[in-house]
Amino acid sequence: MFGRMPKKSDNTKYYEILGVSKSASQDELKKAYKKAAIKNHPDKGGDPEKFKELAQAYDVLSDPDKRELYDQYGEDALKEGMGGGGASHNPFDIFESFFGGGGGFGGGSSRGRRQKQGDDVVHSLKVSLEELYNGTEKKLSLSRNVICSKCKGKGSKSGASGRCYQCQGSGIKISTRHIGPGMIQQMQHVCPDCRGSGEMISEKDKCTQCKGNKVTQEKKVLEVIVEKGMQHGQKIVKEGQADEAPDTLTGDIVFVLQQKEHPKFKRKFDDLYVEHTLSLTEALCGFQFALTHLDGRQLLIKSNPGEVVKPVYSLTRIDPKRNAFFQPGQYKAINDEGMPHHQRPFIKGRLYIHFNVEFPDSGALSVDRCRALEANLPPRPSSNQLSAMELDECEETTLHDVNIEDEMRRKQHQRQQEAYDEDDEESGAPRVQCAQQ
Ligand SMILES: [Zn+2]
Ligand SMILES: [Zn+2]
Repeated sequence: MFGRMPKKSDNTKYYEILGVSKSASQDELKKAYKKAAIKNHPDKGGDPEKFKELAQAYDVLSDPDKRELYDQYGEDALKEGMGGGGASHNPFDIFESFFGGGGGFGGGSSRGRRQKQGDDVVHSLKVSLEELYNGTEKKLSLSRNVICSKCKGKGSKSGASGRCYQCQGSGIKISTRHIGPGMIQQMQHVCPDCRGSGEMISEKDKCTQCKGNKVTQEKKVLEVIVEKGMQHGQKIVKEGQADEAPDTLTGDIVFVLQQKEHPKFKRKFDDLYVEHTLSLTEALCGFQFALTHLDGRQLLIKSNPGEVVKPVYSLTRIDPKRNAFFQPGQYKAINDEGMPHHQRPFIKGRLYIHFNVEFPDSGALSVDRCRALEANLPPRPSSNQLSAMELDECEETTLHDVNIEDEMRRKQHQRQQEAYDEDDEESGAPRVQCAQQ
């Protein structure tokens, strides 16, 4: 009889990846993997990450020993045990061995048959909107692991890669102990001598340059070209520039563009948006102003003679978090002054200008000025004119200033408080004052 270690760990993920139940037979596993692996093969345009996951899940579950270890202790136990930090096998090898080593789809895989696929390294790269508009080249200094030049990645002076004799190279040790009459507990754990790598290099034989690590650190300056019109979130891939490791196909360094907020311009696809506030005089009598574009050019923006820009309330004033692109209001657009289209930079989007109109404050106009102004404005609507008799019949009222935002919040709070109080009375629970009061 075998004892169990009381350790909880996720041991369902691999079954979920293959879409089978925990009691699935080897046949069911095979079928599930075959179907999913063909569908997700990168040579057929599938997602390489998904393909890798499938291979890993199948690799573990198709091996009764590994499956038992996984069922009991989850993924972590395997990672420790297999000494490969998760990426224990090349997914293409697993795929090919499953299909009889025929080399995958037509022409075979370009990846070496016995090489592991190294991990990609992802960095985010901050860029300004100006840099995305004009394009730029960035130089980045990164440090990475490279195969030790002295021992060529063997880790030893002699060139021998010694097999760990404690675990016979498997990286796992099995120990048994008696826990009661007739009861034996069997445990698998990571070999302490080689820390699961299955290899041991004697102190004397260790390479002096890498101290047996097989790799050394190297500083490297990478040139990253940000092309005109690239988007926030777009990836720039430097193939084979990630950490090197023995018998491993070096992964890529991936830069993900992060566009910094621009104080003036907002971008949506190939279009640019800018806000401009006009005074009432400009809105009524015409305006012109210079707008500095992302490449430093000055654009002259002016109204047509006789044109009136209407005031609209900007929603950004009420809620600064609300998306500025969907405000109602008066927009105007300039063609071909938006962002350049990526890879076709001579094609550009539109530049939208959203106009706000700022009215003068109360008291800014004297009674005399108002009269002079009225003489020049279109007449008042006749329907609003009251006769002396009609005026006599009206009651006087007073208009108060209101901050509608605060007003709404207070009323909302009041309603919540009332509903809360009612609940309290019904349940007979003690009354608790609302902490926000
Ligand atoms: Zn070395
Ligand atoms: Zn060992």
